[in-house]
Amino acid sequence: MALLSVKNLGVEFELRTGTVAALRDVSFDLESGERIGIVGESGAGKSVCAFAILNLISKPGFISSGRIWFKGNDLASLDGESMRRIRGNEISMIFQDPMMTLNPVLTIGTQMVETIRTHHPVSLDDARNIAVEKLKAVRIPSPETRLEQYPHELSGGMRQRVVIAIALLSDPGIIIADEPTTALDVTIQAEILELLLTLCNDYHVGLILITHDLAVVSEVTQRILVMYAGRIIEQGTTREIIARPSHPYTEGLIGALPEKTTPGQPLNQIPGVMPSLQDIPSGCAFHNRCEFAAQRCRSDLPRPTDLESRSVACHFPIRD
Ligand code: SF4
Repeated sequence: MALLSVKNLGVEFELRTGTVAALRDVSFDLESGERIGIVGESGAGKSVCAFAILNLISKPGFISSGRIWFKGNDLASLDGESMRRIRGNEISMIFQDPMMTLNPVLTIGTQMVETIRTHHPVSLDDARNIAVEKLKAVRIPSPETRLEQYPHELSGGMRQRVVIAIALLSDPGIIIADEPTTALDVTIQAEILELLLTLCNDYHVGLILITHDLAVVSEVTQRILVMYAGRIIEQGTTREIIARPSHPYTEGLIGALPEKTTPGQPLNQIPGVMPSLQDIPSGCAFHNRCEFAAQRCRSDLPRPTDLESRSVACHFPIRD
């Protein structure tokens, strides 16, 4: 049985202008220790999906349909107290901006010790030892000294390492990382990605990596979910999807990678922009941008269909 199983998940927002479906019919599994990437442009629904898994969708949003199975519990229907026990304990989250996790007026040590003692009945000394051990795991030099420092005394890369250490504090089964390297410079990005990969392997932690960057996903994950306008439009193994995309949108994303561009030429781009979630076209939401669009694409919604070892939602998937 999968560690996490998301079935037909839907999220809606009740706005004054009407109801907006931000996530529709999203289904996927995460096995224990598996690393998956959720990719797509801004507004595709990637972060909404992460927040829904953690039951953090707040009004005017709500989970409108589906189930999120984790260790026998449906997270979509758990009460606040039960969900708080799972959040930050069995499922941790890393945000793009470390300051969304870190409190600027408390030392790193205070924050780590408090986090540990919130979830586990351990002494101050034991909590401090666990904090030092996790700072060592994320390769922070002089961890005892870092415990006495405030977040602003650390570089951006060091702050993100501290956040990863905090995410590991209670030995979670899953880490959800939402654009964890986007705010960092390229060299630090590579170090943080390599660190995440190593830690997931060492601690056997499942990873859901959310990013707009296919290159990042291809380095770290074993499976990819591609999202467009609130739906998963293709999912399968990272290796196969990067090598042979079946959905025209996935093909466009891969074609836009810098290494696919002829030196001296502008980057390849998918024409047009993703539709607003308040104004999704009928049929396939990608049809206004797709070079293969036919009449059927404008009227009939393509449902996810198994194609060899992957699932793709397209009436005319690309085949070899
Ligand atoms: Fe293109 Fe039609 Fe496939 Fe949509 S369903 S991606 S419009 S071919």
